[in-house]
Amino acid sequence: MAVLGIDIGGTKLAAGVVDAEGRMLARDEVPTHAEEGLEPVLDRIVALGRGLLSRPEAAAVAVRRIGVGCAGPVDLKAGLVLQPPNLPGWTRVPLTERLERAFGLPIVLENDANAAGLGEFRYGAGRGARSIVYMTVSTGIGGGIILDGRIWHGLKDAAGEIGHMTVDPDGPVCGCGNRGCLEAIASGTSIAHRAKEALAAGTPSELQRVAHPTAADVVRLAREGDPVASAVWDRAVRYLGIGVAAVIAILAPERIVIGGGVSRAGDFLFDPLRDHVRRRLKLMPAEAVPILPATLGPDVGILGAAAVALDA
Ligand SMILES: [Zn+2]
Repeated sequence: MAVLGIDIGGTKLAAGVVDAEGRMLARDEVPTHAEEGLEPVLDRIVALGRGLLSRPEAAAVAVRRIGVGCAGPVDLKAGLVLQPPNLPGWTRVPLTERLERAFGLPIVLENDANAAGLGEFRYGAGRGARSIVYMTVSTGIGGGIILDGRIWHGLKDAAGEIGHMTVDPDGPVCGCGNRGCLEAIASGTSIAHRAKEALAAGTPSELQRVAHPTAADVVRLAREGDPVASAVWDRAVRYLGIGVAAVIAILAPERIVIGGGVSRAGDFLFDPLRDHVRRRLKLMPAEAVPILPATLGPDVGILGAAAVALDA
């Protein structure tokens, strides 16, 4: 038994043939070119999947199902992708039906953050636990809640939107329209944005030498002690700590697993983050909930989509 896992993102489309033990037997990826709209992207997804299914590694195993992780929001029961902000032209797309017709195999659709959470739970930093909360901190902040081995979907498949938890009622306006969401303060995009604001205010900083500072530039200069970069970074980590502490207070998962580009800051993120969380949780032993970096790297989307299909 094996499955095909497909990860549909705004930047790249990635897929892999994965066996029941989570081994990646074959993988491939292509740029999404999301700006071309729905049909060309669907064509590329089908070509990518067919290419993999025709490889000898796939022919040697029986691929029975296809798991698809797609940027949300999604309506899982109806198999619809509703309107992801990073896939222009995708509005209520009947993705399950379209792909079932193209591949002739059962399709199991899942929101990409949930799929990634299940991937880390099964094959990565969550292995061996019964419940984890996965957070991805990159351009946005997403979450996947795995309770007793299953994704917690919630009403209208809307659970796990950790990035849209209000952490500062007077904070910056978020892409969702609310003010002070965690994502508006601590995502990679927001960290870069806050750095630009600080520079515009005229505070001297090494960041001025960088044409378009990214979150990675902020991390690099904060490590070197640059005051502006440090202030922006410390604020982001502090608010991430508020978010993680809230998640632990509500769910008490066995582990928190954090992936995404910002998590590549490593101990420079995780050490102060654990301190912030510990200081905020008084009623439970915060050290009992390890806060760990994700381990699957860029393949988390494929392995997560595969895990979804293997569980179906
Ligand atoms: Zn929001």
